[in-house]
Amino acid sequence: MTVLAFERVALIGIGLIGSSLARVLRRDRLAGEIVACARNPATRDKALELGLADRATEDAAEAVRDADLVVLATPLSAYAAIGARIAPALRPGAIVTDVGSVKQAVIRDLQPSLPASVHFIPGHPVAGTEHSGPESGFAELFRDRWCILTPLPDTDPAALATLTALWEQAGMRVVTMDPEHHDKVLAMTSHLPHVIAYTIVGTATDLEDSLKSEVIKFSAGGFRDFTRIAGSDPVMWRDIFLNNREAVLEMLQRFSEDLTALQRAIRWGEADKLEELFSRTRAIRRSIIEAKQA
Ligand code: NAP
Repeated sequence: MTVLAFERVALIGIGLIGSSLARVLRRDRLAGEIVACARNPATRDKALELGLADRATEDAAEAVRDADLVVLATPLSAYAAIGARIAPALRPGAIVTDVGSVKQAVIRDLQPSLPASVHFIPGHPVAGTEHSGPESGFAELFRDRWCILTPLPDTDPAALATLTALWEQAGMRVVTMDPEHHDKVLAMTSHLPHVIAYTIVGTATDLEDSLKSEVIKFSAGGFRDFTRIAGSDPVMWRDIFLNNREAVLEMLQRFSEDLTALQRAIRWGEADKLEELFSRTRAIRRSIIEAKQA
């Protein structure tokens, strides 16, 4: 069994995900010291005030110095510059991981600058809310959710076991996956639903004023659920679509074809087709509830 104890953990980004992990590290006393890195003084002050870190700095290189675990938890567009900045300061033998929602682009942006002396293991805790910032995190965020790790072919098994144990300690079920497969699966389960939510809420925004106010007033009828998804952080989601373009476009193409088929069934009053589709989707919903992922 892996005994989990880190001397110094560097959290580069201390928003929803970074701060939730900090809370797990604190709760279970897994780190001798936590160093947080964020650009804005207000973010760093908040992290310190909440007791999520022992030190906070705007310099990622300073944050990772002597850390045995480094976790990148910023929007994806910051990764390449952070990788280049931290590379010379990393401690040999350190585990460098991340929580980004896309995996091929993370490997593309980070791997070239990281020294061979560290263990780079990309990861994605598939857990979240539409909120951001250090105050929005909570240790239970990860409980009973999946964490996908996408180790590289030469990843050290001991480092992988340590990182697996960390996410399991956070309450997650951990699987390893090929990064390309990860990006396809997430394009369907997470990225496409966001495309749809952004589109629906955008369409409502463009309605004439009288109709728009009625939409907001009666939003309980399904629209409200879309506004929750469409209320997610704009920068984070901009980065996800820019960095998982191919997989998202592939899923969007399939979706458009199915939407056209549904449109035709509605137009021609094909009751059987509608009922058959809705029965299949209801069964999916039930299986998600049974798998305790609802
Ligand atoms: P968040 O709440 O907005 O936090 C982002 C953090 O990164 C903030 O502390 C921000 O502070 C800091 N930051 C931004 N740019 C930085 C830079 N250049 N250098 C150092 N710090 C920087 O975002 P989040 O929801 O935790 O998401 C973080 C990552 O987790 C993303 O890559 C996302 O894809 C992934 N993820 C998110 C979810 C979700 O549901 N939210 C789920 C799974 C994975 P400052 O602005 O002060 O710099």
